[in-house]
Amino acid sequence: MISSQIQLASYLFASILFILSLGGLSSQESAKRGVLYGILGMIIAIVSTVLGEGVSGHVYIIVAIAIASAIGILVARKVEMTSMPQLVAILHSFVGLAAVLVGFGSYLDPKTQALTGVDHHIHLVEIFIGVFIGAITFTGSVIAWGKLEGRIRSKPLIYPGRHLVNILLVVICFVLGFMFDAAQGTSGMIYLYIMTAIASFIGIMLVMAIGGADMPVVVSMLNSYSGWAAAAAGFMLGNDLLIVTGALVGSSGAILSIIMCEAMNRSFWSVIFGGFGTGPTGEAAKVEGEVTAVDHEEVAEMLKNAKEVVIVPGYGMAVAKAQFPVHEMVEHLKKEGKTVRFGIHPVAGRLPGHMNVLLAEANVPYDIVLEMDEINDDMPDMDVILVIGANDIVNPGAQDDPNSPIYGMPVIEVWKSKRVIVMKRSMATGYAGVQNPLFFKENTDMLYGDAKDSVSKINGYLKS
Ligand code: NDP
Repeated sequence: MISSQIQLASYLFASILFILSLGGLSSQESAKRGVLYGILGMIIAIVSTVLGEGVSGHVYIIVAIAIASAIGILVARKVEMTSMPQLVAILHSFVGLAAVLVGFGSYLDPKTQALTGVDHHIHLVEIFIGVFIGAITFTGSVIAWGKLEGRIRSKPLIYPGRHLVNILLVVICFVLGFMFDAAQGTSGMIYLYIMTAIASFIGIMLVMAIGGADMPVVVSMLNSYSGWAAAAAGFMLGNDLLIVTGALVGSSGAILSIIMCEAMNRSFWSVIFGGFGTGPTGEAAKVEGEVTAVDHEEVAEMLKNAKEVVIVPGYGMAVAKAQFPVHEMVEHLKKEGKTVRFGIHPVAGRLPGHMNVLLAEANVPYDIVLEMDEINDDMPDMDVILVIGANDIVNPGAQDDPNSPIYGMPVIEVWKSKRVIVMKRSMATGYAGVQNPLFFKENTDMLYGDAKDSVSKINGYLKS
């Protein structure tokens, strides 16, 4: 058992570690350190909470922690890098569900019922808001998981008047909130249940209305919601550290969402409310031109003759785990005196920073990994662009076709270079399900096949 003063000091220390952790995660060089700070902060937080005053049933808690840790280790070890966003989405749903359950428990807790006057009202408001945010986070995250896992179609589910329906549902929740506050004893539980059902429905509809290319923003927004849900749980439990941690996650998630919206040229509010305002109304433009295919030897020849090469990786590179042979190719080309750089789109892959993580894993030096804005202006001077398993992020339709679902999203302008090689297995569309006119351009050639296989074969020809 520890005294409340020691617990408070531990909470303060853990909060500082969480802040340092977030700071560390902001750059690749310090990311590992950031994760370690986070782990240490979490251990201190859990231990000082479990050993705190008024906590009983330690055996059950330890058993629960052991089981949960075993599941966590197993899942984290098993999960493929490409399935990380789904894992993150489902973990967010747990936070939401936890906030709902804490809310129910807190309302039925005799200590809550013993409160009187303003304190009682404030606590009821905390419970109601906490359960509301938790239920939206829970169902929204489950739908996001389904969409990322491909179990639910990524096309937005939009029906006329949906914004009105959502507003009406929120108004109903407001009314239920007043009835909940006025109810005697625990008789308000029924209003809490009804509101939970409505909020769950709102969560489903909000995420169902969001289309493929906006999903990255939704994932970071649900991250933010899960933070607010945790903060709400902190208020309900009177736990300062949970409030601080929740607020940190909530606000950093919100900032990340705004940054991603800017990168995608989307309005924050339009993404939150599922494409508020005007979307594409007409038919997408017909793609013209012919597709030409090349083989590995031809690509190796083009690379041998090039001076400036840019590699644009996408989700397919992650699926194929091609980052290792890609690094080998880069090293070889650099030795041959060529300038090789990477162009990274902010939403390439399936989670923010996905490509940076993969390239770091393969020890690609950071200084040749550039952001989209840093590389786009250089495109006309580039001899060869290798698009490795990317599709939506290099789609010229995002600039030229107002009827394209991804119209307005900034893209890497690879088609402005002298030669583009697209490595993928087929003519299939990417995550947004949109045809890519790039493949039909005169200066584009397709190299079909698994990205890892293709890069390895090119490496063979480069060295021969
Ligand atoms: P895309 O999903 O647009 O395209 C990936 C391409 O990779 C596919 O067309 C596929 O074509 C190809 N591919 C798949 N497996 C392999 C393989 N083994 N070898 C070679 N190619 C392969 O990916 P992008 O990275 O271009 O764009 C990301 C998309 O994901 C955007 O729409 C973004 O909005 C969305 N998104 C991003 C998130 C993020 O946070 N970054 C989160 C959620 C969604 P084929 O089948 O023919 O091989």
